[in-house]
Amino acid sequence: MAEQTVEFADPQQQPGAAPDYEVVVIGAGVAGIYQIKRLKDLGVRATVLEANPDLGGTWYHNRYPGARFDSESFTYGYSFSRELLDEWHWTEQFSPQPETLRYLEYVTEKFGLREHMQFDCRVETMVFDEETDTWTLTLHDGRTIATRFVTTAVGVLSTPTLPRIEGIDSFEGRAFHSFLWPHEPLDLTGKRVAVIGTGATAIQLIPEVAKEAESLTVFQRRPNWAAPLNNAPISEAEMAEIRARYDEIFATCARTPGGFEHEPDRRGFYNVSPEERRALWDRLYDAPGFAIWLRNFTEIFMDEDANAELSEYIAERIRGRVHDPAVAEKLIPKDHGFGVQRLPMETGYFETYNRDNVELVDGSETPIVRITPKGIETTDREFEFDVIVYSTGFDAFTGSMERIDIRGRGGLRLRDKWADGPVTYLGVMVSGFPNLVMLGGPQGAATNFPRGLELAVDWVTPLLEYMWRHGYRRFDANADAEAEWLEHVKEMYEGLLLRRAKSWITGYNSNLDGHEYGKTRYNIYNGGGPKYAKRLRQVVDNDYEGVSFR
Ligand code: NAP
Repeated sequence: MAEQTVEFADPQQQPGAAPDYEVVVIGAGVAGIYQIKRLKDLGVRATVLEANPDLGGTWYHNRYPGARFDSESFTYGYSFSRELLDEWHWTEQFSPQPETLRYLEYVTEKFGLREHMQFDCRVETMVFDEETDTWTLTLHDGRTIATRFVTTAVGVLSTPTLPRIEGIDSFEGRAFHSFLWPHEPLDLTGKRVAVIGTGATAIQLIPEVAKEAESLTVFQRRPNWAAPLNNAPISEAEMAEIRARYDEIFATCARTPGGFEHEPDRRGFYNVSPEERRALWDRLYDAPGFAIWLRNFTEIFMDEDANAELSEYIAERIRGRVHDPAVAEKLIPKDHGFGVQRLPMETGYFETYNRDNVELVDGSETPIVRITPKGIETTDREFEFDVIVYSTGFDAFTGSMERIDIRGRGGLRLRDKWADGPVTYLGVMVSGFPNLVMLGGPQGAATNFPRGLELAVDWVTPLLEYMWRHGYRRFDANADAEAEWLEHVKEMYEGLLLRRAKSWITGYNSNLDGHEYGKTRYNIYNGGGPKYAKRLRQVVDNDYEGVSFR
């Protein structure tokens, strides 16, 4: 992209004039880094406020052993700079957390973005002033910052939630949420470790912890389907091939619903024989990444019978990997089908339960009653531990937005507006909250995250340029356009088996009030990346229909 500077129609709005900033970006993760790059290129007075002591967002936290992409590394990286693509060498098909953090640091240094970032700046409140059309942000240390526009890049899974279990503060050993795994090296040798939860995070860390700890006890409330990641190193020669293919790679990611190179098998589940289906699944189970999920027949996401047949196939594979048939049965979900919840990818997860130092505690038989000073008590017995890892999930999508006390027009609080679930226009704006845009907000495209985030930044940045060119001071989404988008988002859940998922996709979280199962919160846009991108383009082509300017 050629660098250019915005021409401001109204000199009063030029950078440097009040307020303090033209744009404040909240969050220095994958989205915030790209957003500030675009704003820097435009010569706009903008800054990133990051709560953490350094950049990286999700990849700054999540330092648990085994943390890595489930996306192919080369589909996860930024696509905006050819030079960057040519320089960076991913060493593994699915990059581990330390390498990903190094990548984000590299991008930040390369494009000189660090000087536009301020760390240890947790935004606590944001109030919109209708007289001046500006936002005033208050930081945790009491400082205030005024800005015309705010773009939030606060992360989708960045507000961890702990279980509401009696005695949680009484434990005398070490305890932490997996998201907040200690930064200093943690030696688990000789330690008795408990992991609570069996989501995508736990499924990555359990095999690694088992290798190191004296003993590992996994407290599973509900089993989760999982399939092999099939990771591998990337050689110099392979990386050269990937570089040569980058245009094709990103074109495919833009064409596929999930933003991956994985394309669904469109032959039709019932148009091929059971033997052919099985042959396909044999291949996909051994293929890298989300192949078994996203290269599968589309019917598996909608048709109970098709899903049941695939689920039985995966169950058989699990039975083939776990020595003790009773343990294998405990690890096979019975309450939902394969791929209905977000599929965790694993490396030796099921084999971990064959180890002598690993025990599975099935919460459906002997649930946790309380945390004690020495460990965990179930209805059966008390277990003693040195370390407890809570891998118990997040206040997904809305949590990190609601953690900030955001007040829009007429003092309307975002938390109140979203009390029954998020309401947005295009997943980017919220009516009544002018001059605020969300990157990775709820109801945006649920894709390979960076693909959706680049799309969002590439939509938001021209919107801001449009404002500046026309001398506008305020935009706001129209309530009717927002209501129509919500209906469309809801429609996209209909027909999909995931609408019944007991997971963050439907807003379920047993550790949060208002997130009970059955009270669906429409967190994601299920129409797929291409359909979402088309809608964003249409809105622009129709002079930002659904948005008011002044
Ligand atoms: P999660 O999927 O929400 O899983 C939380 C786990 O904790 C579930 O097994 C849940 O059991 C259990 N749990 C929650 N509260 C509990 C309680 N009070 N008592 C007992 N068990 C409890 O969270 P996650 O594993 O952190 O994953 C969240 C998302 O992060 C993933 O879906 C994925 O999108 C993302 N992620 C991505 C990657 C990657 O890309 N490589 C890796 C890790 C995570 P129930 O099932 O019974 O609720």
